Amino acid sequence: MNPLFAHLPTSVFEEMSLLARETGAINLGQGFPDGDGPEDIRRAAADHLLTGSNQYPPMMGLPALREAVAAHYGAHQGLALAAGNVLVTSGATEALAASILAIVRPGDEVILFAPVYDSYAPIVRQAGGVPRFVRLAPPGWRITREAVAATITPATRLIIVNNPMNPTGRMLDAGETALLADIAVAHDLTVICDEVWEHVLFDGRAHIPLIGLPGMADRTIKIGSAGKIFSMTGWKVGWVVAPPALVAQVARVHQFLTFTTPPALQAAVAYGLGKDMAYFEGMRAGYQRSRDRLAAALTDAGYAVLPSDASYFLCVDLAASGIVEADRAFALRIVREHGVAAIPISAFYESDPVTNVVRLCFAKADATLDEAARRLAAAL
Ligand code: PMP
Ligand code: GLN
Repeated sequence: MNPLFAHLPTSVFEEMSLLARETGAINLGQGFPDGDGPEDIRRAAADHLLTGSNQYPPMMGLPALREAVAAHYGAHQGLALAAGNVLVTSGATEALAASILAIVRPGDEVILFAPVYDSYAPIVRQAGGVPRFVRLAPPGWRITREAVAATITPATRLIIVNNPMNPTGRMLDAGETALLADIAVAHDLTVICDEVWEHVLFDGRAHIPLIGLPGMADRTIKIGSAGKIFSMTGWKVGWVVAPPALVAQVARVHQFLTFTTPPALQAAVAYGLGKDMAYFEGMRAGYQRSRDRLAAALTDAGYAVLPSDASYFLCVDLAASGIVEADRAFALRIVREHGVAAIPISAFYESDPVTNVVRLCFAKADATLDEAARRLAAAL
């Protein structure tokens, strides 16, 4: 077997979901909502399945979806894009893999931020690249100019950043996005910005797309995911947004990874992206209520809850909650003995891990969150 993959464990999301199924635990580990997603979008997919084409759509994506992605970012983020800026992929996971494999050459160094989303570094290495990690730490998880500058060498080619960030639930502020743009321009770097959580923002925050900052339009690959925007994580419809020259490079790889994505789902996502602002505001408000509900219940129980700006996730500081166990031991204990699955943050570091934080997914019904908090109260 390819040694680059042979030593890797099964993804922590799958590991914890499996444990949750085996033990019958409430699964606040892997990030997925317990609802079904908007019925009109699912109906649009069903209609297409029955009355539309089910043969190969174009390799670049259905024209209607490419246009809808461009128009959507014009309406929501003020970006001036056209269909030629968009490549449709089978989820953000494929968009990330195709982009990394297209950009990274053997020996190139790639700046990543730990805690790092689990799929980035393995694909960087598969491309022959060398990950260079900038370590972020709680409670702020802030990116500093000094820390990024210290990782840059003449071999640096690419920065991969996730904003808003999974697993921390943090959104980069304007200072951090500006410093990343400054550094990318100064060192002539390409940036892959994984923005799958761009719509799941709280407390009135507005997303800052890196591709819209001065000097970034020609060097940024922005990645999105319908699974996150429409709370249907199983759909695996994603996209790459970039200048046409970069889109063409990523498409060279995409054609040999998946080639295309089921047309009914693409058509339904094209429809969904045109939904009015009320849908997006309602989705955010709903998740914000769930965040506040779980945070309040855990705080009442005595847990130290870290702020969550965005995503379906909040983090708990175990040490500050008076727990001496490391995150992984705690996660294994609570799933087996208390019936709640969580994700240990140490899984997102390759070295010098933060070991006192676990991530909980709050995209669940109120009763589920209340019961999970009740069980977690007993684990303190
Ligand atoms: N990037 C990040 C940061 C994610 O959180 C996720 C999924 N949770 C993905 C990529 C993968 O998205 P998709 O399911 O569209 O492949
Ligand atoms: N991105 C999801 C999460 O953070 C899980 C994705 C997966 O299971 N691969 O929980």
